[in-house]
Amino acid sequence: MNLIRNFSIIAHIDHGKSTLADRMLEITGAIEKRKMKAQVLDSMELERERGITIKMQPVKMKYTLKGNSYLLNLIDTPGHIDFSYEVSRALKAVEGVILLVDATAGVQAQTLSVLDMARELNLTIIPVINKIDLPMARPDEVREEIKKLLNCPIEDILLISGKTGVGVAELLEVVVSKIPPPVSTYADSESKRALVFDFEYSTHKGIAVFVRVLDGTFKKGDSLFFVGSREKFSVVDLGVFMPEMRPIASLSAGEIGFLVTGIKKPGEAKVGDTITIESKPLPEIAGYKTPLPVVWASIYPSSQDDFSVLQQALGRLRLADAAIFFEMENESTLGRGFRCGFLGMLHLEIITERLKREFGLSLVIATPTISYDIFDSKTEKTNSIYAPHLFPEDLKGKKVLEQWVEVKIILPVSYLSPVMQLLHEHEAEIIDTENFSDSRTSLILAMPLRELMRNFFDEIKSVTSGFASLSYNLIDKREADVVRLDILVAEEVVPAFTKIVSRRRVEREAEDFVDRLKNVLPKQMIIVKIQAKALGRIIASRSISALRKDVTGYLYGGDITRKMKLLEKQKKGKKKMQQKGRVNIPQEVFLKMIRNEKK
Ligand code: GDP
Ligand code: MG
Repeated sequence: MNLIRNFSIIAHIDHGKSTLADRMLEITGAIEKRKMKAQVLDSMELERERGITIKMQPVKMKYTLKGNSYLLNLIDTPGHIDFSYEVSRALKAVEGVILLVDATAGVQAQTLSVLDMARELNLTIIPVINKIDLPMARPDEVREEIKKLLNCPIEDILLISGKTGVGVAELLEVVVSKIPPPVSTYADSESKRALVFDFEYSTHKGIAVFVRVLDGTFKKGDSLFFVGSREKFSVVDLGVFMPEMRPIASLSAGEIGFLVTGIKKPGEAKVGDTITIESKPLPEIAGYKTPLPVVWASIYPSSQDDFSVLQQALGRLRLADAAIFFEMENESTLGRGFRCGFLGMLHLEIITERLKREFGLSLVIATPTISYDIFDSKTEKTNSIYAPHLFPEDLKGKKVLEQWVEVKIILPVSYLSPVMQLLHEHEAEIIDTENFSDSRTSLILAMPLRELMRNFFDEIKSVTSGFASLSYNLIDKREADVVRLDILVAEEVVPAFTKIVSRRRVEREAEDFVDRLKNVLPKQMIIVKIQAKALGRIIASRSISALRKDVTGYLYGGDITRKMKLLEKQKKGKKKMQQKGRVNIPQEVFLKMIRNEKK
């Protein structure tokens, strides 16, 4: 174990994580030069196209220093803020991290978030400034920023270029000398234990879990179980990442590899769960939580013929991502679709993009919403509501709780005032500010997730000409001042249009909605009233004039009595329709009204 080093690279997006990993693979000879391509560990099509890491492969490297041969395991953490809970669990699989900062951009919001997690776990942190080959690099300023952040001597901060390879060999030496080797807590026990930091699904082998072995030695045929999900399995196969998955006879304490479980059910493997042996279990690694969706959106196939393809596709994706939730939408006016839950907005975007690409689906995605906890003071029960039309109309004796987030923003000081205006509009409270350097400052805010989802990031980016960086994580749940807004068409509530909105914006939202609906709803034979109702009364109203059908057009000349008779008949018919009052809203209108406008 003394010759093993397990580490991760943490960085803001685009600061050069994947490129640095490439150089390490080259230097250690883990990948032959001729097989090398840029960002080789980003294997998903979507990743390669967008240049972002969604899932980086773990990799094992051999490295010789001063006559000792070391095993270096580089594992990646789910790269985005939406997965911050999983990042914090995955970081439990390593003893140290490389904190990578771009020499042109400096410390960014997400750098701070991941750094917080590494610190909480008491990991060894190696500060590194990347991209020093660029003419725009400002290594001296960035050094000062990092020094302030970590409270470390300037000499400890390494300067490298992942692109040219400058400094990467020295960095590997520092990894070996500074990051401690793994230790096993239950070294003398016969038992075994591992932490799940990721997993993958294949049709013929089922779920393969990516594990960090904490104690004991795992072998083929071991009878194991997941402590969190209680699911039992026996090891079908096991191996290490070279970086392709290569079978091996055993995996021992301190090592990183994979176990093939044979489990074909979705939802059993989750990041952060503990695996141990059935006959002699070891205690679970503390603090495990099942990931819970926080952002909800309804998804419909553009053509109803694709419903079953969508259902299968969601099932497939869920096998490899236990954090996706979906159930059949019971609001049938829109056709058949699913109410889906995600960990955050990027998670939603990635999943819907994969549905479109990998399954060729054309989808309508409704504006995402959050869930609310309704506490009933009479029954003392809390009910979680994730579809607006299930939200209670009357909140007497009830308390509504909603998710709050902590947001970090780093921005040039000169953009502070337009940002302040936005903070106010989005109900954000400033918790802390800190000057970062002479020209940049960091803000820490608390705000409702509901407000973050109203395009907050895009608006901040736009008023700062793209210079602000942002990151967020979930904090607590707080009381929400929100109301249910219903839309009535011809005096009938249309559940699919119901929304939960901030009380202070209810009027504006109501006016906007009835206006938009008036413009897209086709004229009917009768006058149609469109109303918005909240707090027990109608707060906005429009009407659409009736379509006039020419019932007398075929008559020639002057038979006035006949004409009068026909018009009279039409009037009576309309009156009858008006009384019955049903309006059929075409599906296109529904989809237009609920579709996520942000694209
Ligand atoms: P990641 O999102 O942190 O994984 O970043 P990538 O490794 O995908 O790199 C983001 C972009 O920065 C890519 O266009 C890289 O080619 C570029 N890049 C990464 N490292 C360097 C470097 O040291 N110098 C220069 N000039 N560009 C770099
Ligand atoms: Mg990357």
